[in-house]
Amino acid sequence: MSEQRQETGRSPLRRVVVVGAGMAGVQTAVALREQGFTGTVTLIGAEPHQPYDRPPLSKAVLLGKSEGSAFDVDFEALGIELQLGREVLGVRPGDHQLDTETGPVAYDVLVLATGAEPITLPGTEGVPGVHLLRTLDDAERLRPVLARQHDIVVVGAGWIGAEFATAAREAGCAVTVVEAADRPLAGALPAEVAAPMAAWYADAGAELRTHARVERIEPGEVVLDDGSRLPAGAVVVGIGARPATAWLAGSGIELGAHREVVADTHLRTSAPDVYAVGDCASFPSGRYGERLLVHHWDNALQGPRTVAANIIGEATGEPPAVYDPVPYFWSEQFGRFVQYAGHHASADTTLWRGDPSGPAWSVCWLRESRLVGLLAVGRPRDLAQGRRLIEAGTPMDPELLADPARPMKAATA
Ligand SMILES: Cc1cc2nc3c(=O)[nH]c(=O)nc-3n(C[C@H](O)[C@H](O)[C@H](O)COP(=O)(O)OP(=O)(O)OC[C@H]3O[C@@H](n4cnc5c(N)ncnc54)[C@H](O)[C@@H]3O)c2cc1C
Repeated sequence: MSEQRQETGRSPLRRVVVVGAGMAGVQTAVALREQGFTGTVTLIGAEPHQPYDRPPLSKAVLLGKSEGSAFDVDFEALGIELQLGREVLGVRPGDHQLDTETGPVAYDVLVLATGAEPITLPGTEGVPGVHLLRTLDDAERLRPVLARQHDIVVVGAGWIGAEFATAAREAGCAVTVVEAADRPLAGALPAEVAAPMAAWYADAGAELRTHARVERIEPGEVVLDDGSRLPAGAVVVGIGARPATAWLAGSGIELGAHREVVADTHLRTSAPDVYAVGDCASFPSGRYGERLLVHHWDNALQGPRTVAANIIGEATGEPPAVYDPVPYFWSEQFGRFVQYAGHHASADTTLWRGDPSGPAWSVCWLRESRLVGLLAVGRPRDLAQGRRLIEAGTPMDPELLADPARPMKAATA
């Protein structure tokens, strides 16, 4: 439970409007109440469904092991007004107004939490049998596809592609994963770390084709640029996501190179009284000395607490809180629990703990003897300890750290 804060009434009760009812939006609304905000909180979401969590969509929900993943939040009891199935079309920061199809909405403080949307494969939008996996509706469309045990082609060997391939194999489908790069997770991990992960596909009975680009999709087939044809009862495209910010065009709110909302260390945007959080926003990381755009669940949990504290702090005159987390995410793929904490750069030193051909191993990234990043496969204790060591910036002894039998917390310099 977050620290309770008192509103001292420096300014009158205010209206906070949150756009986007995903993890970051819901957590912002909840954190405002947890931290004692007594003004109006309105949460507007384009999707018609009760707000839900996305990670289960590529796991239990896809396989029908769980019906849905609605957040266990009593919005009414918290005094949070939910407006679902309402898309926000624009914002006029000068007027403190949002525009929607059903009329304008006034705010005193606005929080942008519109998340991200999947990148589509050019020319395949709306083509029957071609799927994306971002929303509950997507997962519900894919569930019967898995149940029919089609031949499935997955485009992209990233996090979503690997998780979807895992579920499709579990459902008994024949799965081919097509990846343009030379390895899975090329954008996230260096070649030597991703190399052992490539073998996981074959172990699970999925075919991974690297250096393979999709030329076009024909009924029942995917045609690659080398002319080969893959049978495809269905195609799932998992080639990344980009911030859902098209609706901000012309608003004057600064967007970055990835079309994300550019937030400052307090998660404020370039417009007065407008914050941004979650997948739609980047923030400057003092810890890593660069701007981070994080598309993971934990960021949509932690960021909202800072936003809520700063909205309340503005009224009480408290100094604004700085958002500077150690990023964290997990993935469940091919029977393995993969976790990552921190943020590494190519210049950092890589150090292995354990044999990557085995079921459990970790990789550490060190910068001047301090741990800056950690990937743990089947080693949740490494992750828990490593995350704290990264947070504290503790100097490590590389020789001790390389011994997988030694707890990480006992490998300090
Ligand atoms: C299938 C899947 C599996 C995942 N698994 C993991 C995992 O295992 N581990 C992990 O760390 N992360 C995982 N993630 C990532 C994680 O779910 C996201 O980082 C998180 O959902 C981000 O939350 P968000 O609220 O910022 O954005 P979103 O969850 O995208 O929510 C944004 C909401 O805003 C709404 N919206 C957008 N535009 C508008 C508008 N103009 N008006 C009104 N509403 C609007 C959208 O409809 C959406 O409901 C997964 C993501 C997916 C898709």
